[in-house]
Amino acid sequence: MRLSRYFLPILKENPKEAEIVSHRFMLRAGMIRQHGQGIYSWLPLGKRVLDKVNRIIREEQDRSGAVELLMPTMQSADLWIESGRYEAYGKEMLRITDRQDRAMLFGPTNEEMITEIFRSSVKSYKQLPLNLYHIQWKFRDEIRPRFGTMRSREFMMKDAYSFDLTREGAEHSYRKMFAAYLRTFDRLGLRAIPMRADTGPIGGNLSHEFIILAETGESEVFCHRDFVKFDIPAEDLDFDNVEKLQGIFDQWTSLYAATDEMHDADAFDALPEGERLSARGIEVGHIFYFGTKYSEPMNAMVQGPDGKEHPVHMGSYGIGPTRLVPAIIEASHDENGIIWPDSVAPFDAVIINMKVSDEACGSVSERLYEALSNAGLDVLYDDTDERAGAKFATADLIGVPNQIVVGPRGVAAGEVEVKNRRSGERVAMSVDAAIARLT
Ligand code: ATP
Ligand code: MG
Ligand code: MG
Ligand code: MG
Repeated sequence: MRLSRYFLPILKENPKEAEIVSHRFMLRAGMIRQHGQGIYSWLPLGKRVLDKVNRIIREEQDRSGAVELLMPTMQSADLWIESGRYEAYGKEMLRITDRQDRAMLFGPTNEEMITEIFRSSVKSYKQLPLNLYHIQWKFRDEIRPRFGTMRSREFMMKDAYSFDLTREGAEHSYRKMFAAYLRTFDRLGLRAIPMRADTGPIGGNLSHEFIILAETGESEVFCHRDFVKFDIPAEDLDFDNVEKLQGIFDQWTSLYAATDEMHDADAFDALPEGERLSARGIEVGHIFYFGTKYSEPMNAMVQGPDGKEHPVHMGSYGIGPTRLVPAIIEASHDENGIIWPDSVAPFDAVIINMKVSDEACGSVSERLYEALSNAGLDVLYDDTDERAGAKFATADLIGVPNQIVVGPRGVAAGEVEVKNRRSGERVAMSVDAAIARLT
């Protein structure tokens, strides 16, 4: 991508409305644009990051055996009346009436709709287990939308729904998602800690929130320090291996970890002082097992091996991609801007041409651009006629992991400078060496 042809509306000033660093940098880097309370556009740079986050989420959902579909944002109130949640959900639900005076709503979550899809075609235990997911916009009329896309009203969610004949089966499905989430957050460069959680309006009896520790987090959390030392499940994990998944789950739930709603002060205080961590956290994912809470009222039955009809056991599993993007920034930035983990960086490398009027700088930059792009890297080429200082500031602000500085003096000596955004390390090398290093 040539910056001269891109759309990157950088803000020079600090936006006054931004209270936390991620919101400030997302606005300054031209990633998002606000339209109303809790409603945002994702501008090209932001969209790139969001797509990369979603790709990782998808890969890990697919790896665990979940199957993707896509449900609409608009739902009929009838389904929610059937499940008994229409009144109970309260003011967070955006209720809409269509021209035929039918009660509709913008989905805040999809348990009812997926149960409707399930019951319309799955009749036998032989079709189980099944886990269906989608990545779709949700709307919740939050009482206090704030911190940019961290808590917005319209936001994206990956929501998966599992179906099993028995409680034991459903618990295995739950542990599959548990392991998939550990892998997902790790690949996003985050250490997320699963904490016992309240089930809230989704209902049910087994639930974990995945929390990232951050000073700006809205939840108060309490946990053991040793979570940072636990291993992440390997890429070749066999998700059908019941014992293996049980082992992962047991390890990751062996130490104290709870949000304030579930906090047991006595149990926590019993830990040696040096092992206690009380901090603030951001909820980036939440998984629930809720049994037959929806299948019973909505009559989602499957025939078991005994020939009898059984209400299906369900779980639901959410991740917030549009919250994860600011959460990653909260966890990884410095005073100059964002420091993206490689896995979600909007571009892998930026070529900074310090003097576009110089023919030699132009041809070296073009050669780098072509070679790196051909090697499959996402490359941004700053070919604008901004002054060098502004170009460096932009590259740091938008957080591209590798910066290649092409200046007249270096080029005359046959060299460019390769800078690592995270370490700040700068090394002069030949153009070929720069290409070799990044590919
Ligand atoms: P919170 O406690 O922050 O209000 P929640 O518990 O209501 O979140 P869930 O119903 O568990 O949210 O939804 C699953 C995931 O969706 C959350 O873990 C979070 O990542 C994301 N999410 C929920 N509400 C929002 C929001 N208003 N803006 C952005 N992401 C959200
Ligand atoms: Mg909420
Ligand atoms: Mg919550
Ligand atoms: Mg939650």
